[in-house]
Amino acid sequence: MDSRRARPAGPSPARARSRGQCFLNSPTIVNEIVEALPLKGKNVLEIGGGHGELTAELADKAKNVRVIESDPELIPFLEKLARKKGNIEVVEGDALDEPFGEKTIFGNLPYYISTPLVMKILDSSFTSAVLMLQKEFGERMVAKPGSKNYSRLSVAVASRAVCETVAYVPAECFDPVPAVDSIVVKLTALPKSKQPNLDDALVRALFQHSGQNVRNALSHSARELGRDKKELREFADSTSYASTRVRDLSINALVELSAALRV
Ligand code: SAM
Repeated sequence: MDSRRARPAGPSPARARSRGQCFLNSPTIVNEIVEALPLKGKNVLEIGGGHGELTAELADKAKNVRVIESDPELIPFLEKLARKKGNIEVVEGDALDEPFGEKTIFGNLPYYISTPLVMKILDSSFTSAVLMLQKEFGERMVAKPGSKNYSRLSVAVASRAVCETVAYVPAECFDPVPAVDSIVVKLTALPKSKQPNLDDALVRALFQHSGQNVRNALSHSARELGRDKKELREFADSTSYASTRVRDLSINALVELSAALRV
């Protein structure tokens, strides 16, 4: 049985909802998130501290927690917690502007900036991250070739990290209750030497038409690629993927296509 936490006084539910602030009120889910990685001796970054629901548990397990929170009304909750725990640094600021230096990153992310935050994490020197995201977004992050959710985001993630589902989280685990369900995913960074070399423009052009075969998708994206349709059809025919549906292309296939287009 899940014992729900009473919501601390703070931003009103209406204000919180309008800022995409839905606070975890399920200790079970908080535990699942914190237990997803070994934390002993680690310096952890948390994005979006809220009232410190996750921060407190991270501080109990890790060496240090640096928590970034953009809402000035929530800073006093985090500073009070920091005084109590003694190993929390509170940063008032925008996570998109603050540097990410830690190897271990956690966050129940503000969903309206999930894409730039996930990209910023992937571009950082992180080794592991555990993130709460809107369910549909997280499902696209973990999707494999052939699945209906396999997209440009799946490719961007898989080319830099292994991404796994940790837990599905129903909307009722938050206060105020959001309109969407959530998912917790774990990212484990690939060593730089194992990160494939993909042509971003090619991947974007292909996935704009993910239900089509490579030949048609490239032909339909000729303008974006600044190339001639005929030239792109000939290019597709020169590879072994002309009639493969874009959604079925593995990362290796995309690497081959990227290399072939560069020649
Ligand atoms: N960690 C808490 C929890 O799990 O209940 C709060 C999660 S709530 C979904 C997201 C938090 O991120 C909010 O506290 C919100 O104020 C904060 N936030 C929103 N945009 C932010 C940004 N650009 N930089 C840092 N924090 C942000």
